[in-house]
Amino acid sequence: MPTILPGATLGVMGGGQLGRMFVHAAQRLGYFTAVLDPDAASPAGLVSHHHVQTAYTDPAGLEQLARLSAAITTEFENVPAQALEALAATRPVAPGGPCVAIAQDRIQEKAHFSACAASSGVGCAPHAVIRTEAELQAVADALLPGILKTARMGYDGKGQVRVKTREELTVAWNELQRVPCVLEKMLPLLAECSVLVARGFDGQMVGYAPQRNVHVNGILAVTHAYPGCLPAELAARAEAATRAIAQQIGYVGLLCVEFFVVEGPQGLDLVVNEMAPRPHNSGHHTIDACDHSQFDLQVHAMAGLPLPQPRQHSPALMLNLLGDIWFDAKGRERTPDWAQVLALPGTHLHLYGKTEARRARKMGHLTVTGADLASVQATARQCATLLGLPGLDT
Ligand code: ATP
Ligand code: MG
Repeated sequence: MPTILPGATLGVMGGGQLGRMFVHAAQRLGYFTAVLDPDAASPAGLVSHHHVQTAYTDPAGLEQLARLSAAITTEFENVPAQALEALAATRPVAPGGPCVAIAQDRIQEKAHFSACAASSGVGCAPHAVIRTEAELQAVADALLPGILKTARMGYDGKGQVRVKTREELTVAWNELQRVPCVLEKMLPLLAECSVLVARGFDGQMVGYAPQRNVHVNGILAVTHAYPGCLPAELAARAEAATRAIAQQIGYVGLLCVEFFVVEGPQGLDLVVNEMAPRPHNSGHHTIDACDHSQFDLQVHAMAGLPLPQPRQHSPALMLNLLGDIWFDAKGRERTPDWAQVLALPGTHLHLYGKTEARRARKMGHLTVTGADLASVQATARQCATLLGLPGLDT
């Protein structure tokens, strides 16, 4: 594939915050950008040179995006895989439709992880696929208590029901309209972590050290990214597994793989949870703490530019800013006190330009960097207190 140089236009399917940060990275390098998103006020559409405002499957919209763009990427995994395949008929698309199709379906995703287990060294949680009444009846008791997850369209804990008994499982599957699901055994998690890698069209791969993630109510709250945030041996295993998972499907672009840390027979063990075929919330610290961010690498990979091995220059803590902090104790809307937060050293505030704050909606994030971990932790604690953010003490 020929290198696409700055001055060309890069396209992205989806106009959310990940698309917005992709647009920022592409524009800084001198590219023009095109975003396809139906929403007139989408975070990425607002900052892009071109905004194709149609549905993701609209043939005219897809044609317009392909006409504008020299290469196309995606910022969310639920983009219809056929749309990516239609675009791929005339333009380089990274990641490709088949890779995105695996990531959008937990059944295929788990099959891919299992197929990789021999080379990745990491398996997935014990689980069963439920598509029919017979499969529901055949579920082993050992999978309970468990989490029933819809195979498709889940994010931020949506489309998931925790079940303790077979009766609850049946009720939950009925409530989910009996769509294809995966029942996963509930594991006692000691921690969660994720790994970001970027892979080029030529198979070259670079990546970041794994980060440790804290979720609150099924949504990422805090990311710890500094040496020692995970035991070194465990981090090395997670990194190797992520590379195997990317390699085996010929992935091109930026990939994030999420893992659980559990107690195994011989000490700490890893379980692979899911993958995101795009930059990830747990990689946002790379903007302020690394010389190349995950969005820079997304741009490099899709444009066929060389992939530099990124270097983290500061320890970092990332705090997610959900819509909840836009409401006071009485439920009245307010603006968080940004001035106090910005007065602290090493705070990097990112707001996504969403006009309406809603509880559990990702409105922005705050990355704290510093010369040493102790100062980063102290500042992050101050920010969490000022803004009322959870998850820092886990
Ligand atoms: P996102 O796409 O936002 O990462 P999601 O909705 O796709 O989330 P998962 O990553 O499957 O959902 O699960 C969300 C969180 O729920 C996990 O990060 C973890 O904290 C918890 N969880 C999920 N599966 C299990 C499990 N089998 N055992 C214990 N906890 C789990
Ligand atoms: Mg997840």
